[in-house]
Amino acid sequence: MIERANEKKLLTVAVDGPAGTGKSTVCKLFAKKEGLTYLDTGALYRTVALRFIETEISYDDSAGIDALLAGTKIGIKKNPDRMTVFLNGKDVTDSIREEGVGMIASKISAIPRVRQHLLFIQREAAKEGGIIAEGRDMGTVVFPDADIKIYLDADPAERARRRYCELESRGERVDYSKVMEDLEIRDMQDRSRAAAPLKPSDDAIVIDTTRLGIDDVVQTIQNIANRMKCRQHRNDRPE
Ligand code: C5P
Repeated sequence: MIERANEKKLLTVAVDGPAGTGKSTVCKLFAKKEGLTYLDTGALYRTVALRFIETEISYDDSAGIDALLAGTKIGIKKNPDRMTVFLNGKDVTDSIREEGVGMIASKISAIPRVRQHLLFIQREAAKEGGIIAEGRDMGTVVFPDADIKIYLDADPAERARRRYCELESRGERVDYSKVMEDLEIRDMQDRSRAAAPLKPSDDAIVIDTTRLGIDDVVQTIQNIANRMKCRQHRNDRPE
């Protein structure tokens, strides 16, 4: 497992970027390789979205949202290659993956009190380090002191193609143009919201994955981590 050489403290790796850039696959592979745990923060927003769908509470009903959040107990079980999510004790890991849930997640993630509620859960889950966390605001808001910050990006058409293939492989019947349209709406919502909009932090390393395979991206992150470790060892050397 990678450690910060000087403090023997476990690493935090923050990975952001829009949908379809390969974040989940890359993070899971890197987690496995490096013995980190994997935190999928989108799954938390999706879980809250599921509650909005169940309760039909409107996005501008402040008191209703407070009650909804108070009645939403999110449990997570972290592994290198999978994160299991529980909503009030029920395993919702698979049901939150539906496209419709992702779209509602993008809507409710613009609500500041929802973000505030999930901020605590995310930081609590990562407090011991040894984690790779993916989302939209890992480097900018949730883990501003992360040891490594990566922002994955790719052309929208390629991202939509990947999304389409992923949905097809799960047996969901989808139309490519609808996938593309949803992706563009979600991008626009995530980038333009006032609270923690999707953007690379100033100190993030941006990787364009349009023409890269998954292994290339994992290797690039590995190289970044190795360079960081070397720098730290150099700094730690006695004069
Ligand atoms: O990553 P995933 O596509 O599952 O995320 C679903 C939605 O949750 C995103 O479109 C985004 O609006 C929201 N999200 C967020 N901040 C995060 C993770 C996800 O706003 N850290």
